[in-house]
Amino acid sequence: MTYFLDVILPIPLQKAFTYHITDAEAQFLKTGMRVAVPFGKSKIYTALAYTIHNNPPIAYEAKTIHQILDEEPIVTDLQLKHWEWIANYYLCSLGEVMRAAMPNAFILESETIIVKNETAQVDELNLDDDEFLIFEALQYQSSLKIQDVVSILDKKRILPVVNALVEKGVLQLQEELYEKYKPKLVRYVRLHQTYKSEEKLQELLEVLSRAPKQREVILALFSLEASEQKPIKVSELMERSDASSSIIKALVDKSILEEYYIQTDRVQFEGGGDEQTKQLTDAQSIVLEDIKVSFKNKSVTLLHGVTSSGKTEIYVKLIEEQLNLGKQVLYLLPEIALTTQLVQRLQDYFGDKVAVFHSRYSSNERVEVWHNLNDNLEKAQLVIGARSALLLPFSNLGLIIVDEEHEQSYKQFDPAPRYHARDAAIVLANIHKAKTLLGSATPSLESYFNASQGRYGFVELKTRFNNVLMPDIELVDLADKYKRKRMKGHFSDRLIEEMTETLDEGFQIILFQNRRGFSPIVECTTCGNSPQCPNCDVSLTYHQFRDQLRCHYCGYHTVMPKTCQACGNATLDTKGFGTEQIEEEVKVLFPDKKVARMDLDTTRGKHGFEKIITKFEQREIDILVGTQMLTKGLDFRHVKLVGIMNADNLLNFPDFRAHERSYQLMTQVAGRAGRTDIRGKVLIQTYNPHHNILQQVSTNAYKEMYAEQMNDRYNFKYPPIYRLIKITFKHKDYNRVNLAADWYAKSLRQVFKSNILGPEFPPISRIRNLFNKNILIKIPQNQSLSKTKDAIMKIDNSFNAVKDFRSVRVVLNVDNY
Ligand code: ADP
Ligand code: ZN
Repeated sequence: MTYFLDVILPIPLQKAFTYHITDAEAQFLKTGMRVAVPFGKSKIYTALAYTIHNNPPIAYEAKTIHQILDEEPIVTDLQLKHWEWIANYYLCSLGEVMRAAMPNAFILESETIIVKNETAQVDELNLDDDEFLIFEALQYQSSLKIQDVVSILDKKRILPVVNALVEKGVLQLQEELYEKYKPKLVRYVRLHQTYKSEEKLQELLEVLSRAPKQREVILALFSLEASEQKPIKVSELMERSDASSSIIKALVDKSILEEYYIQTDRVQFEGGGDEQTKQLTDAQSIVLEDIKVSFKNKSVTLLHGVTSSGKTEIYVKLIEEQLNLGKQVLYLLPEIALTTQLVQRLQDYFGDKVAVFHSRYSSNERVEVWHNLNDNLEKAQLVIGARSALLLPFSNLGLIIVDEEHEQSYKQFDPAPRYHARDAAIVLANIHKAKTLLGSATPSLESYFNASQGRYGFVELKTRFNNVLMPDIELVDLADKYKRKRMKGHFSDRLIEEMTETLDEGFQIILFQNRRGFSPIVECTTCGNSPQCPNCDVSLTYHQFRDQLRCHYCGYHTVMPKTCQACGNATLDTKGFGTEQIEEEVKVLFPDKKVARMDLDTTRGKHGFEKIITKFEQREIDILVGTQMLTKGLDFRHVKLVGIMNADNLLNFPDFRAHERSYQLMTQVAGRAGRTDIRGKVLIQTYNPHHNILQQVSTNAYKEMYAEQMNDRYNFKYPPIYRLIKITFKHKDYNRVNLAADWYAKSLRQVFKSNILGPEFPPISRIRNLFNKNILIKIPQNQSLSKTKDAIMKIDNSFNAVKDFRSVRVVLNVDNY
């Protein structure tokens, strides 16, 4: 019998690729193990074993695999099933899903070098045959490559042998073998065996009386050991005894102390887990019960709870129940970096069971979460993460919570897989026969629609915790204020009044502006010219702090010119305003108050957000100016006033969801005001105070907003009534993009007759020197989605066969949000 293995390669291939394997390999291999395989001319890839069968590939001669990298599968069957759904639904390859799911550290290093450990005293009798062969080879040559070891041993599973030799101190690796992942070792100390007896110990202390610093260290070690009942870290001991590392080293050299290492997880949470979960209020208890009832016959339930109603405390009860049942829980958040507070809260309740999966974490940290989950350890029973956490190896999920389910950042744009985490979460839960809870104060029209159709259960929580009143929202008419000269910079007299009062009372303020930088547009007042990005079809934004013009699409930047590049006059003026300008103005208006800014420019780096949030929390900041980042789940006790500097640029955004989003965004920002016992105040500055959305925001009229927006969606054939697939063509040549998009659109129209829009240039038609053109496919509810996709893929295949179009990038975006 000849065996073949289909593998998933981490690249956009339409089909699985087939390799030849031996009988022994076929016996050993399981789906989900990694294998190293040759691909293309000379590349070696880490691939995933998929299926084993006896059918040779038709179009090519199967090569043999290089080696098997795992002893056990690192990807589970359920996980693969979910990946398959994603690939299928979002029209991408399984390899692309694999690429998105796997931390980089899982990818093979093909050039690892094995060398002799020069200092080792090797006892040859201690080596088995395979180990000896390698040991011997290294007596004759200075180093070996992995491939050499494979030929010396004449087998492919060499990893265990090499690892054993490393462990025995015979070999060293110049790079880590295969896995770039390095377990983190922590240095611990203990008293040397010799001094375990009371007598010896007394002697030691006497001897050390002439070395008081060292004596101090030993005494500190005792007291630590007595109080901690666990291994003592060198760092802890140094801190406790106030000793330098040289003192510790001296003790180690004298064999009084002994050092040892333990592998620890990189991400460690100190303590936690002892805090009792909160007692729910009556209203919350009812909601909790309703959710449980709803879960009896619905796999998905939507919780619509106003801001600060205590949704999180309800989640906590549901989580607690699952953890007690031994089940895993996934808690999805739109942006994990913004949720330090929440993570802290969950750690207080659930301690070590909490694992955070974070795109800003290093690859190594992510590998640890992966392994802990794959081993179904308690350490990772509750995973908190952003959308990619969905792709982890869960084995025993009981519940997925999708917090802030309306957030658009749940949808991945680039690269593929372009999946929506909320929708993919529901599928994942179904695969595990688990439940999904969607939570939001401002549900997406999609979810609310699904609930109203009975597809999802629905539960509502209308009151804030403690019966705190919803904030009082006031609309400020900018046109009127400007006319009557009641503006200072971008601040109306009303806003300044409220700010003054709030600060006098000792409360904090949040100011929201959805644009960063100083001014979005620079314009010459003589000739009207605005500096443009050379790579993109957009105007440059002025950033005062660096005195630069910057492009927010490609990162291009240049010094702010003194004169207009078109007419040469020194009449460049700025129009519009961003967070930076607001911050400047606040500093002038309230010179003795502390102001900070939270946007993409101030929060780079792993702990960027945390620093600002912590400062604000500790009231080192009086006024925080920021972009949408401010809206995300922050719970600040002392914020009484929220100012929305300009609602109009939200409302006028060219997108069919602009109104829905404006409602959500403003309601969420407003929700930051007044959270414990004070009623919050919100001021919204606008040129259109009579706009329906603003009226709905100020009266908290979600249902009206929903009804009105749904009406538009019906009339204009948009989601959730119709589904959308967007196809984007990208090329640096303008004509080529046009030709390609026209060809594609024509083919689509032959199949679909109607509901094909475009091709059209988007508002920003050139980004990073590539022209973009879009086709939009609208799919009515009675049209089969899978048949539609099949037809698209057929067209896509013929398209790719046209030589002229091969260099055009085609991006398929299903459920383009
Ligand atoms: P939401 O997620 O709905 O915006 P949170 O769960 O963050 O609301 O709750 C808002 C605040 O009220 C938090 O500080 C939370 O600790 C507090 N809170 C909510 N419910 C309770 C409760 N039952 N007991 C004590 N505090 C509560
Ligand atoms: Zn640009």
